[in-house]
Amino acid sequence: MNTARRAAGRLTVLAVLFLLPFLSSAEEPRPRATASLLIHHAHVFTVNHRRPEAGAIAIVGERIAAVGSDQEIDPWIGSQTKVIDAHGASVLPGFNDSHVHFVDGSMLLSQVQLSDVTTRDEFTRRVAEFARGLKKGEWVLGGNWDHEKFPGATMPTREWIDGVTGDTPAWLDRYDGHMGLANSAALRLAGLDRNTPDPPGGAILRDANGDPTGALKDAAAGLVERHIPPLTEEQLTRAIRAGLAEARRFGLTSVQDISHAAELRVYQKLLAAGELTARVYAITPIQLYESQVQAGITAGFGNDWIRTGALKGFADGSLGSTTALFFEPYNDAPDTRGLFNAMMLPEGHMLQMAQPADAAGLQIAIHAIGDRANHEILAMYEEIARRNGPGPARGRRWRIEHVQHLRPSDYEAFARLGVIASMQPYHAIDDGRWAEKRIGHQRAASSYAWRSLLDHHAMLAFGTDWPVAPLNPLLGLYAAVTRATLDGKNPNGWIPEQKITLAEAIEAYTLGSAYAEFTDTQKGSLAPGKLADVVILDSDLFHVPPEKIKDAKVVATIVAGKLVYSAP
Ligand SMILES: [Zn+2]
Repeated sequence: MNTARRAAGRLTVLAVLFLLPFLSSAEEPRPRATASLLIHHAHVFTVNHRRPEAGAIAIVGERIAAVGSDQEIDPWIGSQTKVIDAHGASVLPGFNDSHVHFVDGSMLLSQVQLSDVTTRDEFTRRVAEFARGLKKGEWVLGGNWDHEKFPGATMPTREWIDGVTGDTPAWLDRYDGHMGLANSAALRLAGLDRNTPDPPGGAILRDANGDPTGALKDAAAGLVERHIPPLTEEQLTRAIRAGLAEARRFGLTSVQDISHAAELRVYQKLLAAGELTARVYAITPIQLYESQVQAGITAGFGNDWIRTGALKGFADGSLGSTTALFFEPYNDAPDTRGLFNAMMLPEGHMLQMAQPADAAGLQIAIHAIGDRANHEILAMYEEIARRNGPGPARGRRWRIEHVQHLRPSDYEAFARLGVIASMQPYHAIDDGRWAEKRIGHQRAASSYAWRSLLDHHAMLAFGTDWPVAPLNPLLGLYAAVTRATLDGKNPNGWIPEQKITLAEAIEAYTLGSAYAEFTDTQKGSLAPGKLADVVILDSDLFHVPPEKIKDAKVVATIVAGKLVYSAP
């Protein structure tokens, strides 16, 4: 009893001491400027280590003016201030997706959508419905199918769709983008038949008679894809508008677009029209590096809205397509260790592009999934550092995209070489359903190794790979914190040792991603002077059980101090 009363007394003293600075600050003169937008009654998680938490933010124009308690910030309210009451919910820096295929994702919003299909009948039905609405000359496009969801993991064949597509060519991507399904009309257009050899870095799946089934892996997909009519600028603009609306809805204020380069003009057009509501970092194909070198573009070239100067290459394929490159064979396909992407062949080809690009000050970002692919790219970066000189002094920020499977001996190389691990947490809870069947438990233990990478001082940047995974960042935070696979079979986490904290996951999705595009001094945390890119949620993520993080919704999205989305 006595102890309790003494403790209560001490609490009162503490509370008074705690309140003193606020009481005195309230007596100070009001700040001269007033806020254009002010958020209060919030649980602000700032991602600013100097002041990790706060209750309110004052925004003046497109930048943050002050972050503090309600008492500190409310004096910024003036007659013109728009005030938002967050009702105690989380307020975070706007999400920055470090790896999206923005045009592909945006296009898919108006194409055949097969990501949730689990049967052949439904697959056929959706393709039939879509084909009926097409104009002459248009293709059946889209897909996002995953054969792991079909009974017995059956691979789809052209017979599934030939009957409902007829002479209309069809090309339907697997969700990982490393395989697709063509119908017979598309195969005919591509001149692809039983006599066509597998191209280097690709495979044509064949039936018992030796005829193509329609499923084409990696480089073989190009044989059909090159016949798809290019998008018109009008189609592209319409798609990107839809993609931006999707981004606003999910609190994304920045996207790093693995771009085809053609969309830069569309982003520019939308910016001029005041319609660009997410900042874009365009990561263009490494094969085109010479045009950027000649133009004198270096990493981070651009303005606060549109930047470029990064190059994307591929080292291997994907785990789902058995084309991710490993040191050891696949457990369920012992005749293969995966494939080098065609860009890696012949040996040294990637280095021949990456070294001069690095010397010219461009950023390199290479897709690597299997442990061998990651190892080869780390070795390539080390070789470039040897030839071009050391990195950090020159402001070099190399990236590896995906970093899914690593040998533990490679963890340390990320921090040592300054390589950013650009990863997509949702893939772990998706692939985690079946990954061990492919690679066994030991290799799985160092897969999606967020904890180990952070413990080895690596920089993490988070994203989705949309449309490979859903665009919603809250699913990514949920995946990073729980590692609970989508099939519900690992409620305590698949390889739980590799879980990270919510604070670490948010940092990777904001400041980490900003670092990966050279903008960490401008955005990625909530601090005075930074760009006012902010997301308001409907709950406090730090006070809900981890399994509820995925159910949180975005209430408002603010970009450059402007409210661009508020929940209906
Ligand atoms: Zn990707």
